[in-house]
Amino acid sequence: MITVVRFGHRKGRDTRITTHVGLTARAFGADRFVLAGSDDRTPLRTLEKVTEKWGGPFETVGVDKWRPFLRKRKGKLVHLTMYGLPLPRVLPQIRKDWETGGELMVFVGAEKVPPDVYEMADYNVAVGSQPHSEVAALAVFLDRLTEGRLLEDSSRFKGAELRLTPCARGKLKAPREPV
Ligand code: SAM
Repeated sequence: MITVVRFGHRKGRDTRITTHVGLTARAFGADRFVLAGSDDRTPLRTLEKVTEKWGGPFETVGVDKWRPFLRKRKGKLVHLTMYGLPLPRVLPQIRKDWETGGELMVFVGAEKVPPDVYEMADYNVAVGSQPHSEVAALAVFLDRLTEGRLLEDSSRFKGAELRLTPCARGKLKAPREPV
């Protein structure tokens, strides 16, 4: 079980990026997307529509009281931040924790992340020690965690209205899979 937590979303300004964090979470293997500390539900609605069309399960949730939510987690908390330890150094231990401990929570920010998140996190992890994007950081982290397996296999997405057939040129889309 992988939960991605997006924090610091600013209504209007961050809608597109927050939606992209959610899409990346879904496509790269997370089971749940949590929008923390924002009453804007627009990205959640978009993600629900995408899940209806392209398959699930993928849960989307808005959480107001995000500190208790993080504290009550069942597994480890990974905070992606350029100030953290290099991903290759901590990845083996994170993978072990994930495989043995159930849920893994992955936290990404938008604007400034409150200092107590750095304390609460079991791992503060840098995907390179340069500033870039929460979408890029999340994609690389999930891809490394799952060793690229999910890029080859879409079979986990059930109940899709649409399904793609990979092809060298053009677009091959098929309607709903047989029930
Ligand atoms: N200025 C903000 C701060 O100081 O917390 C960060 C802004 S950054 C655009 C938004 C998010 O992208 C960060 O909270 C972090 O989750 C992620 N991020 C950006 N660069 C990263 C890196 N090199 N490694 C890991 N995460 C990164």
